Amino acid sequence: MDVDAGHGAALGGSLPTQGELPLTRRLRSLLTWPAADGDPVTALVRAHRGIHPSADASVLRRAYTIAENMHRGQFRKSGEPYITHPFAVAQICADLGMDTITLVAALLHDTVEDTRYTLQALQEDFGREVAHLVDGVTKFDKAFYGKAAEAETVRKMIVAAGKDVRVLVIKLADRLHNMRTLGVRSAASRERIARKTLEVLVPLCDRLGIQTLKRELDDVVLLHLQPEEHARIARFVHDRPGWDAYLADVVARTRAALRRSRVDAEVSPRPRHLYSIWKDTVAGDHAAPFDLPRIAIVVDGPPTDCYAALGAVHGLWRPVPGRFKDFIASPKNNLYRSLHTSVCGPQDRTVEVLIRTTEMHRDAEYGVAAHYRFPRAAGRAEELAWLRRVLDWEQETVDPTQFMASLRCDLAEAQIQVVADGRQVVLPAGATPVDLAYELGTERGDHCLATRINGRLAPLSSELEEGDVVEIFTESDAESGFEVDVAPRGPRREWLGFVKSPHAQMQINRWFAEHTEPGISIADKVRLGRASIGLALRKHDRGLASDLPLLRLSEELGYPDLETLLVAVFDRSVEPDTVVQQLIDLVDHRQ
Ligand code: MN
Repeated sequence: MDVDAGHGAALGGSLPTQGELPLTRRLRSLLTWPAADGDPVTALVRAHRGIHPSADASVLRRAYTIAENMHRGQFRKSGEPYITHPFAVAQICADLGMDTITLVAALLHDTVEDTRYTLQALQEDFGREVAHLVDGVTKFDKAFYGKAAEAETVRKMIVAAGKDVRVLVIKLADRLHNMRTLGVRSAASRERIARKTLEVLVPLCDRLGIQTLKRELDDVVLLHLQPEEHARIARFVHDRPGWDAYLADVVARTRAALRRSRVDAEVSPRPRHLYSIWKDTVAGDHAAPFDLPRIAIVVDGPPTDCYAALGAVHGLWRPVPGRFKDFIASPKNNLYRSLHTSVCGPQDRTVEVLIRTTEMHRDAEYGVAAHYRFPRAAGRAEELAWLRRVLDWEQETVDPTQFMASLRCDLAEAQIQVVADGRQVVLPAGATPVDLAYELGTERGDHCLATRINGRLAPLSSELEEGDVVEIFTESDAESGFEVDVAPRGPRREWLGFVKSPHAQMQINRWFAEHTEPGISIADKVRLGRASIGLALRKHDRGLASDLPLLRLSEELGYPDLETLLVAVFDRSVEPDTVVQQLIDLVDHRQ
């Protein structure tokens, strides 16, 4: 993305959180900030240097000064000066162990959107990297994008994250602080924001593997959506006699067993967060909150030591059948690796055990942030396959609403792993062999003909299940013995009725778009003309919320109506890029 592509989003003074406040309240809040120690940046620098000792403090001070200046006179709904928000976001990033660049961008993250500071100026002052990060979290202007603004904003953020994943870390920290301070909002807006957080940002956080953030996000969402339930679980956790003593006993016995097996490891209780207890309680239909004692074993050694530890634990207490999971050999798609088992512990109580190496533990806690927090330790090049996949189908989705629908589907928590071509493939729950075929490659998808699930022939619409071993046969698989001649080539329309993944849907639509051009109707030409304009607009990071600007342009260019202009674009008698340039000029001059 061109970081210079600022587009007049800096409408100083139109801050939505800047409610009218009585003067006394404003003055009071000005007096309580900066905090008692005089200089808030010092606390930030201290937190940052605690993890990165040689970090440059001066750039943080410079960023804070500019942010504080730009936001001066703006206030949060709570009445606090606005700067408290970007400062808190930077603090969250510092606690995560993010690098200086991230902290600088976090301090400045709302300046371009909400003040007169421009992206251009920001880039001159702090460089391209910071500008890219700030631009990635800057919302599109509702005045131009209307209803599409939100979807286009998420899309822009994902694309920016494809180049630099720190964009998403800042966005998550931003949302976390907004969620923490949601208390002052109305009940309706609290619920609306909490729901959106649950739908998109929590799963995003999960995909990035940042558990320390996800736990707090989860709990704060529960607090706003189900305050009584949150209180009930919190009371339960706070007050359960014998719980700590029981865990201490389990930990001590586990330590002794590991010592006997000569496995060097740290053992500690691993409490669940409130949301997780609540979810299990509801899912299991339990009347009282349901929580099992849980411990974590972090071995100081290679991954094979995890299996030695597992052996020691299983030798000590009988494993509960069906509860062992090996996320080391078959990692989830968010960098998480660990062994999970449940054993029948002392007093016949079920105890859950997590086993991992130090490095796996860091990845489990910090996900993509581990790379910044432990620069030398993170030897692995983190391949966020998930992000790559989203970016793939992002390219082919013009309509922002469709993009959001696909993203939501992709983020839906439930996923399964199947085995194909001798490897593990992650698919959304409910996926079919056609989804799998497209996941294995466009060619395989377009030409898939039949499937065998666990050795048996099955319909292409079958729902796959966790652990299925699946074979896909295509038209070119001569050895498959299928009647190639009688089968029509390419995907079938009815596939669209059962495929689950956005990727497969996109690919099937693409095939039909490419293969149905003869006899194309005017309506199709209008639609495709509009799509070309949409695509060209996206090169400028913009989109169209309504037809109004296009209508005005078609008038100005002397077309009898909008449809004629769109058909002209389709026929390439006028270039979409030209139309878009004129459109942008038209809209920007209005502002
Ligand atoms: Mn913000």
